[in-house]
Amino acid sequence: MKYITQTDRAIAKLISAERRRQEQTLMLIPSENYASQAVEEAVGSPLGNKYAEGYPQKRYYQGQTFVDQVEQLAIERAKKLFGVPHVNVQPYSGSPANAAVYFNLLNSGDVVMGLTLSSGGHLTHGHPKITFSGKFFTSIQYEVGKDGVIDYDQLAKFVKKHKPKILVAGTTAYPRVLNFKRFGEIAGSVGAYLLADISHIAGLIIAGVHPSPTAFAHVVMTTTHKTLRGPRGAMILVTSRGLKKDKDLASKIDKAVFPGLQGGPHINTIAGIAVALTEASTARFKKYGQQIVKNAKALAQTLMINGVNLTTGGTDNHLMVADLRSLNIKGKDAAILLEKAGIVLNYNTVPFDPNPPFNPSGIRLGTPAVTSRGMKEKEMKKIGELIVTILKKKLTAAEVLKEVRQLCRRFHIPKAY
Ligand SMILES: *Cc1c(COP(=O)(O)O)cnc(C)c1O
Repeated sequence: MKYITQTDRAIAKLISAERRRQEQTLMLIPSENYASQAVEEAVGSPLGNKYAEGYPQKRYYQGQTFVDQVEQLAIERAKKLFGVPHVNVQPYSGSPANAAVYFNLLNSGDVVMGLTLSSGGHLTHGHPKITFSGKFFTSIQYEVGKDGVIDYDQLAKFVKKHKPKILVAGTTAYPRVLNFKRFGEIAGSVGAYLLADISHIAGLIIAGVHPSPTAFAHVVMTTTHKTLRGPRGAMILVTSRGLKKDKDLASKIDKAVFPGLQGGPHINTIAGIAVALTEASTARFKKYGQQIVKNAKALAQTLMINGVNLTTGGTDNHLMVADLRSLNIKGKDAAILLEKAGIVLNYNTVPFDPNPPFNPSGIRLGTPAVTSRGMKEKEMKKIGELIVTILKKKLTAAEVLKEVRQLCRRFHIPKAY
């Protein structure tokens, strides 16, 4: 921080304050994590100075000797780790990556079908009116069943009726395992592409604690900064099944990203992705993935035995959604109160939420970041109990904050994994 402190004190101060905030609070937002120092160094490196429009060996500018090798390494590592024949590592983030897939595979009038936001889908899965995915394409969305779980028989009928060109299997607030095999069969029944959006669960898949979609989906999209623990970015994977359906799919996806949607790739981010993929190929990463799920189950258990309702009655993955209606507190009020106690999570809709997304009935919590800090089941029980004392207003935020600080002092953010 030596140079930035000299050049721009205001920003330097804010970075320091944010670093402190992250160190001293419990990060329970399931999409957040702590990238390693190694990833940070790659992202903050001079690779960011280089323009590299195009792909390795096919660039539009000179001076590509080293950045070509960086991108190639990221691609090879991703192919190996996920077991797919083609990967594009250039998408700036998850939303533009999904946009590239849609713009490439859909013509006007074609139907895209994803899960609704309140059922746990992502905005880019066809949310109407306010997103590109709902505005520029014909979006028809499916919902979870009354129990909060995807009903595959119902989905199969819905797909037969509306004949999507792309079926999206992916979630951002869904606590159960996705049955990608079933999704693949359902998409196949109408000749649709299956896009598996594994943004949240990529790290769990690599760790072997969530089934992989690569045998069933044609295209897989993932962000790189969630359970995968890399820099902010995304990748699009084309599977063997995808190439079987359309032998030009890989080059179509590449063209859709550049020049279709984006300009020059962020090679510094791509280097960070390559570093994160190396970190993810270790036995320690497998342990981390397993512990994320164990921790989520322990946290869920503690919340439930203390009277907090979780949608679907628990979790199989890294996150859970609590429906707070029986506790007479709105999700947003709970999230604000918890932040005062050093517990940072987000308010979230619950399935069939009678309340709107900006003031919904639930909160969403997850264990990836606290697992990265080395916390285990014992700490999850403690965190669950602290959350309950806040929700039931048994202790003040200031009292809970003291305990949170203690916990954070015992489990530092690691510099390396
Ligand atoms: C996070 C997420 C995205 C979007 O990623 P951004 O990098 O925030 O644009 C897309 N799909 C799913 C399922 C996600 O969880």
